[in-house]
Amino acid sequence: MGPVLNGLSKLQSVENRLRAAKAKLTRCRRNVVIQESQVRNLQNAFQAKKEEIQLTQVQYDRLELEMRSRDADIAKLRAVLNTAKTNKEYAAVLTQLNTTKADNSKNETQILDLLKDIEADQAECKEMQRQIEEQKQLLEKTRAESSVLADKYEAEIREIQQEWDEAAKDIPPEPLEIFKRVAETYDGQAVVEIASPDDKKKAHSCGGCFMKITSESVNLLMSRDELIRCPNCTRILVLADSQG
Ligand SMILES: [Zn+2]
Repeated sequence: MGPVLNGLSKLQSVENRLRAAKAKLTRCRRNVVIQESQVRNLQNAFQAKKEEIQLTQVQYDRLELEMRSRDADIAKLRAVLNTAKTNKEYAAVLTQLNTTKADNSKNETQILDLLKDIEADQAECKEMQRQIEEQKQLLEKTRAESSVLADKYEAEIREIQQEWDEAAKDIPPEPLEIFKRVAETYDGQAVVEIASPDDKKKAHSCGGCFMKITSESVNLLMSRDELIRCPNCTRILVLADSQG
């Protein structure tokens, strides 16, 4: 291989390391984002639970008010019962009194159920608060760790970028442009080796997309320092060390 293809091959290996370092930086930052959203989700669930408790509390207050007002009714009906002048009147007031009492005891059951709900929800809230605190601590820990790691990765990236610039320096502008464009398309993989067939009668193929590569292209690569691109995927083809 001549200097251009050789240069592109070297640039490819630096490109690989550069991409790997950038991916590590992205992953380490994403960890923080994921945990931030976990804290937010827990906080939202906590808020929703609190609102649920408030609604139950409103219902509870209303039922309790009803019960107290019925208690007053019951007291009044008892007084009326004591002063009833006829049996008929007595029976009518007694029926009313019993109905009111029955209503109240139904009411009481409902109130107790609501109270149980509120207590269960409050316990859940407490548990949620504990989880939020735990998750927040984890987040802070991850933030601190990520920040240290990110600094390290950023330094690594700067270093590899310098190597990249150095490796790109002697490559003519046109091939370099093509390299960059193809690298963008294939997540950094711009230069691929031609795969030799196991069976000599079979064709060579592109190391990127496995499409057949003609022997003319292979011969051209052996004799000239020119860019040959895969007709299918447009990646830049080079010969493996053993081929060139
Ligand atoms: Zn290809």
